[in-house]
Amino acid sequence: MRTFKADLHIHSCLSPCADLDMSPRSIVERSVEKGLDIIAICDHNSAENTEAAIRASEEYDLRVLPGLEINSSEEVHVLAIFEEAQKALHMQEIVYCYLTGSNRPDLFGDQVVADEFDEVKDFNERMLISATQLGIHEIVERVHRLGGLCIASHVDRPSYSIISHLGFVPSDLQLDALEISRLTERESAQSKIQGINNFPIMTFSDAHCLDDIGLTYTSFLLELPIIDDIRMALTEEFGRRVMFN
Ligand SMILES: [Zn+2]
Ligand SMILES: [Zn+2]
Repeated sequence: MRTFKADLHIHSCLSPCADLDMSPRSIVERSVEKGLDIIAICDHNSAENTEAAIRASEEYDLRVLPGLEINSSEEVHVLAIFEEAQKALHMQEIVYCYLTGSNRPDLFGDQVVADEFDEVKDFNERMLISATQLGIHEIVERVHRLGGLCIASHVDRPSYSIISHLGFVPSDLQLDALEISRLTERESAQSKIQGINNFPIMTFSDAHCLDDIGLTYTSFLLELPIIDDIRMALTEEFGRRVMFN
């Protein structure tokens, strides 16, 4: 058992709002420089750059988990993180069925699909930044059915968060954890946000540029850098646990 530093909320150049130099390989290299052990690539409503990041990480001691940051019909952002790229891509297919509209690169930015060598493969033409027509409860259920972890994003933020939508975290929502942004101290969030203490709390960078990678992270005591171990850490089973940084 050892400590793993994890930043499980990183956007790549596929997200229209992220820097174009957030290529899969650059993200991997910067994560290694920052001493991270586990990262998750979570682009808005898409997992199309996750396989390239996994391939780019093969020569390093870094675990890349494939994920998406899904925008629910209530405009709540939720991280969906999986063990295998195929599961993330399956979730992406579900999300695409509930996502309409085309991107306007002039307004929102390019959505670059890249390979592991930083070559541009394609431009995603969907409106990835939009809300899907999937409700938050349905997202949680579908992610769990595919064996993934579901973490509500930046719950302290005044927009695109469960707090901005509801004002509290409903206890019937089967989220695995809540993420607070780096703008809010854990103690302050715990005292201000109703319902937050029913869930494990963690913090990640939500990096949209290379310099922000690993700016905040969460440490886990795990046997292996895999979803099953992280899930056990969230429920404090078999010696796994979330550690305070
Ligand atoms: Zn978000
Ligand atoms: Zn994000």
